[in-house]
Amino acid sequence: MKAELISAGTELLLGEIVDTNAVYLSQQLAQIGVDVYYRHTVGDNLRRLVEVLRLAFDRADVVIITGGLGPTQDDITRQAIAEAAGRSLVRSPQAVDKLREFFARRGRVPTENNLCQAEAPEGAVLLDNLCGTAPGIRLEHEGTVTFALPGPPTELQPMFTTEVMPYLLEMTERRGERLYTRTLLLADIGESNTAEILSDLIADQTDPTIALYASPAQVRVRLATKDADEQAAADRLAAAEAPIRELLGEHVFGVDDDTMESVIGRLLRETRATLALAESCTGGLVASRITDVPGSSDYFLGGVVAYSNDLKQTILGVASEILSTHGAVSSQCAEAMAQGARAAFGADFAVATTGIAGPAGGTEQKPVGLVYVAVADERGVHVEEHSWPGTREQFKRRVSQMALNTLRKRILQTI
Ligand code: AMP
Ligand code: MG
Repeated sequence: MKAELISAGTELLLGEIVDTNAVYLSQQLAQIGVDVYYRHTVGDNLRRLVEVLRLAFDRADVVIITGGLGPTQDDITRQAIAEAAGRSLVRSPQAVDKLREFFARRGRVPTENNLCQAEAPEGAVLLDNLCGTAPGIRLEHEGTVTFALPGPPTELQPMFTTEVMPYLLEMTERRGERLYTRTLLLADIGESNTAEILSDLIADQTDPTIALYASPAQVRVRLATKDADEQAAADRLAAAEAPIRELLGEHVFGVDDDTMESVIGRLLRETRATLALAESCTGGLVASRITDVPGSSDYFLGGVVAYSNDLKQTILGVASEILSTHGAVSSQCAEAMAQGARAAFGADFAVATTGIAGPAGGTEQKPVGLVYVAVADERGVHVEEHSWPGTREQFKRRVSQMALNTLRKRILQTI
């Protein structure tokens, strides 16, 4: 099923606002296997909107236009759709009533401009707007269904969820094109390495399709297949997943909506183990991610951001000889921090991070990006060394991911 998206609004062309609606709609459509072939951005200009709408009517199954449904002179989406489809605009008495009620509840009376929002091309269906005044529009015209949705994301998103998504799902199902996906989440491996390991599978892929996506500190392998039958799709996805898991082994840390922190949470809860943290270069990011998970108080005791050498000594008991001989960014210091946190907080597992985030502070022996992560548990301490030059933000994100992944692997060894 082919879709085209149109974002209407001169402010978009001027760069005054960012077109987040198009991104949102693209993501939603991708999830259900509706292929977005074109995205347009058009100013508040009737002739140009009509031109783009006609083009979209000719080649798309679904057209979604956002913005321009407001009550002012430059809100011309209703007119543009009517003109492009060669239909007249008609005013819906029910929609007029709803508008009057909406205004009455606020002690106001709608103006004539407001009442124009109750107009739609002949044959169109008006879509309820629970969060604003402008109803949306659905029009079926010569084999293309067009949705016009309000510009404000707070109005567009609920309307998309309640009025558009169910309609599109029904359409894809009717065509036997419902998309089912399975996404494997990888840690501690880059996109090109993943592509190389999976090269045979990727080269031979037919159905399900296999696609790799790289985002900061994480690679995703997405399997997708279309079918009318959910079970048949699930079986096909499972059959394709098995050899990929075999090849990638421990790199696969989760699936679909998992996050590294939610996976860690599950593992700690399953093993009834507790966690404490001693963070230096991540500045609390690991703790922040751990506590993003609801119910994390079941296993997370707490942590310390021990940035200064003083605190590393007083709170975590790092020996001054370690700091003077090896420095704060050293495997010895990471190890002592993790052990110190485990002892001080009485946790089963403790994770420590220490590194040089940059841009300053690097030396020949210890360049910017050098980092040590340590995980202490009853078996002792495991330390990892890495070098990741980049922005501070990228560095902290990657280190937090690596720290959590190292913890994950250590917990798995105890199961
Ligand atoms: P409109 O319905 O065109 O008058 O748009 C009303 C408001 O919705 C604008 O002022 C923006 O704040 C927001 N808006 C419109 N189009 C978009 C878009 N494509 N992405 C994000 N926000 C938008
Ligand atoms: Mg506008």
